[in-house]
Amino acid sequence: MIKYLFLFLFLFISLEASKNSEILNRAHKYMQSNTQSDTFRAYNDYKNLYLQSAVANNLDLKIKSLEGIVQSGNRLHIDVSKYSNELKTLQLKNSYNKPKPKAMKKTKHIEDVHIEPLHKLKSIDWKEDILLLTFNKPLSNKQIKDFTLHDKSKNKYRYVFDIKTSMLTSSQSITKNGIDRIRLAQFDPKTLRLVIENSSKLDIKQSIDAKTLQISFILKTAPIKIDRDKVIVIDAGHGGKDPGAVGYKKYREKIVVFKIAKELQKILKSRGYKVHMTRDSDKFVKLSRRTKFANEKNADIFISIHANAVDGKNAKDVHGIECYFLSPTRSERAKKVAAKENSADMSDMNMYGKNSYLNLLNHHNIVASNKLAIDLQRGMLGALNKKYKNVKDGGVREGPFWVLVGAQMPSVLVEVGFISHPMEAKRLVNDNYRKTMARGLADGVERYFANN
Ligand SMILES: [Zn+2]
Repeated sequence: MIKYLFLFLFLFISLEASKNSEILNRAHKYMQSNTQSDTFRAYNDYKNLYLQSAVANNLDLKIKSLEGIVQSGNRLHIDVSKYSNELKTLQLKNSYNKPKPKAMKKTKHIEDVHIEPLHKLKSIDWKEDILLLTFNKPLSNKQIKDFTLHDKSKNKYRYVFDIKTSMLTSSQSITKNGIDRIRLAQFDPKTLRLVIENSSKLDIKQSIDAKTLQISFILKTAPIKIDRDKVIVIDAGHGGKDPGAVGYKKYREKIVVFKIAKELQKILKSRGYKVHMTRDSDKFVKLSRRTKFANEKNADIFISIHANAVDGKNAKDVHGIECYFLSPTRSERAKKVAAKENSADMSDMNMYGKNSYLNLLNHHNIVASNKLAIDLQRGMLGALNKKYKNVKDGGVREGPFWVLVGAQMPSVLVEVGFISHPMEAKRLVNDNYRKTMARGLADGVERYFANN
């Protein structure tokens, strides 16, 4: 349960208002690194900026942050259609307001007339291991320029194909088992760029057949095998005398999170993992006991499941799914947010000596927990967005959650939604919704183990 989130959010906004351009620059930098966790950091930054642009009524910032959300969201396979629609509307409005180009540009316009009309991409298909890009008219070899980049430090191969004088309407991701990432986007107004990215070398051949560019892959490496010899500890929040958050229609957090935890346990067990629960019934378990249990079981990961809530008149507005990982964050806001989850078991906290404990956090564990949080968040959103409308992505955040303190393995606190929000609460007590969410979490776990 995170109370007063909104209040802190506003405090946060006013404090950070002067730093907008700094955050924007930081987000742009994250986008250049191309790793999944940096892209997620950028995504979160852009979303914060978007929120601030609304508060400050800053159109320029709004457009920039929307562009960032759409770009990073597409890379992460998050549904950002809502944002891209808003962006298109704003860009259209903005172009009306802009002054018309001056007469001196005329020569350029005359040149433009001689350039043949652009090729338009009509379809993207797979024929086994051959990617087919079909345009509205025949292509020539001169239009295609390709080059390969190898980033040794990140162990990434990038195969780039620039298709000149052609365009598509929106950037797209193309997926293929055995290849890390394939992206197609407008590089400049006349160039369509296809980037195939992989951690091992690929044998790629290209050919043109009339209107179709054919790119064939010979996959040298076998698909990654997931090591299922892993131990997972699932922690259903609260229990017994501690109901956790009590929300819409008096639904209780301890019940909802227990059912999701049980479902997740069932799915992970069926996929071959060893799974333990910190509580197997409606009983009270101290926070410190929960991580101690995970350490005793030699768990590879620890997932603590919670539901969120806000009081009073905000209850109808605030909803969304968030994942938190433990870090010695300096933000006062995050500390206060975490204090709400911690309050059930204050006496335990003093035992740890709070801040000194946070300073001892293992850097490797923070990075791994961050990655796990990203995979769990993506997993949940991916599964839920396919079946439900208006599933809100609250993002991946860091904070000093005591239930995670002391865990010797990557650990994440999942806030499955706001039990105080009428729609989200109804979903959280629905079996199908919980099953879908648990499946998404299990997929996130698998993705994490596959990559780490
Ligand atoms: Zn809780």
